[in-house]
Amino acid sequence: MARKFFVGGNWKCNGTVAEVNKIVKLLNEADVPSEDVVEVVISPPFVFLPQVKAVLRSDFAVAAQNAWVRKGGAYTGEISAEMLINLEIPWVILGHSERRALLKESNEFVADKVAYALSQGLKVIACIGETLEQRGAGETLNVVSEQTKAIAEKIKDWSNVVLAYEPVWAIGTGKVATPVQAQEVHADLRSWLATNVSSDVAEPVRIIYGGSVNAGNCVELAGQPDVDGFLVGGASLKAEFVDIIRSAL
Ligand code: PEP
Repeated sequence: MARKFFVGGNWKCNGTVAEVNKIVKLLNEADVPSEDVVEVVISPPFVFLPQVKAVLRSDFAVAAQNAWVRKGGAYTGEISAEMLINLEIPWVILGHSERRALLKESNEFVADKVAYALSQGLKVIACIGETLEQRGAGETLNVVSEQTKAIAEKIKDWSNVVLAYEPVWAIGTGKVATPVQAQEVHADLRSWLATNVSSDVAEPVRIIYGGSVNAGNCVELAGQPDVDGFLVGGASLKAEFVDIIRSAL
């Protein structure tokens, strides 16, 4: 089954109104493959979401970078899935390694967030990935399958989930996984899903790679059979993001 290539741009905690307008202009003027070929989702910080959504080309969608784990209420500083739906934000990134590490989000907490976001109608980019220490100890598959298992135990329908394999050692470090390393983990994850969830989930689910993707390394990575796209951090703030979108071809 053909899986549509997916490219997400995670702007993280970056940007000013002027910078946001500049990047959106660049994206709006970019010559990229059609929506039939590539799904592009841009994830600005919460405060810029309405601004970006209002002016971004209609063939690109937007994502929030987080959402609260349950219905909104007395949770100061949080943003609920209901609010995102109310603003017609279709996607949310959950479980990013920066939140797992800095804000101590556990596998279970991330899985609860994924389940709640899906239940409210959001589509989810669910991030998983091992640290350098875990890779060195030969624990990569254990770690990513535990992270995926926590999610699998709480959801039934995977049709609105994109799984982002983002090795922690590759995020923002300039040390990209080799195409062989990425393919190996993606294939292992797909096979884990086939065995532990179902082949009906494993085959169509998009497994995208994130971690120091740039214009120079995206084409070879995109050529791997189980790499269904990218989640891009640093390079999504630059003109080379357009080249990364074009690697879908
Ligand atoms: C990310 O933050 O999801 C990411 C992949 O970052 P970078 O591309 O900068 O490594």
